[in-house]
Amino acid sequence: MKVVLATTNEHKVHELNQILAGLVEELGLEIVSTADFDDLPDVAETEVTFAGNALLKARAIAHATGLPTLADDSGLTVDVLGGAPGVFSARWSGSHAGADSPRADKDRANLELLLEQLADVPDENRGAAFVCAAVIVLPDGADAYAIGEVRGSLAREPRGGNGFGYDPIFVPDDQPEGARRHLAEYTDAEKNAISHRGRAFRDLEPTIRDLLSGS
Ligand code: IMP
Repeated sequence: MKVVLATTNEHKVHELNQILAGLVEELGLEIVSTADFDDLPDVAETEVTFAGNALLKARAIAHATGLPTLADDSGLTVDVLGGAPGVFSARWSGSHAGADSPRADKDRANLELLLEQLADVPDENRGAAFVCAAVIVLPDGADAYAIGEVRGSLAREPRGGNGFGYDPIFVPDDQPEGARRHLAEYTDAEKNAISHRGRAFRDLEPTIRDLLSGS
C-alpha cells in the first residue's frame, strides 16, 4: 500500500522512514514523498498551531493524490521568547537567506539570528523544546494527530554535523553532567529515540495501523 509523506524536507523523510520502519515492514507500506508527484498544490502554512498546519498539508495532499497521507509540522519553542519561533521556525530569519536558497542556508540563517537574539540571556533561562504534530489523513477525510515534545536548552555555539535545522544548538535535557552533547552530535537512532518527531509518530502509530488496516 502506498502512503504519501507530505514533505519536501529529505531529513524528515529519512527520519520518518526509520521511526516507522516496523509499521512499514508489518503492513508492507511504500512511503513516497511529495517529490514523487507532479503538480501537487503548494500548501501555505497559514495556521497558527503545529497540528493545524500539519492537518492543512495532509488534507490537501490526500485530496490531490487520493492516497493516505502522513505529515508533520514541527518547530522550536523558546521559553524566554514566549514560545517563538514556534510555527515560524522554518522562516525565522525571513528573507535573509533568500526564498530560493538551499534549506541548509536557511537553517543556518535562522539559527544565527536566534543565537544573536539570545546573546544576553543567561544559561539558566535558555530552556526550549522541539515540538512536533504528527498527522494521518485518509482520502475519505478520516484523520488523527499526536503531539510529541523534547525539552532541552540552547547552547551559545553550534556543534555537530548530524540532523538539521536547530539541532546544532539544542542540548537535550537528561544528559550526564560533563558529557552533554548537542542534538546534532546524536546518531540518527539516538535522535529518533528521544525526539519530538519520534515521540509523536510512535504515539500515533497504533492509530495509523488501525486506519490503514481498515482502508
Ligand atoms: P516545517 O517543515 O514547517 O515543519 O518546519 C520545521 C522547522 O522547524 C525546520 O525548518 C527547522 O528549522 C525546525 N525543526 C523542526 N524539527 C527539527 C528537528 O528535528 N531538528 C532541528 N530543527 C527542527
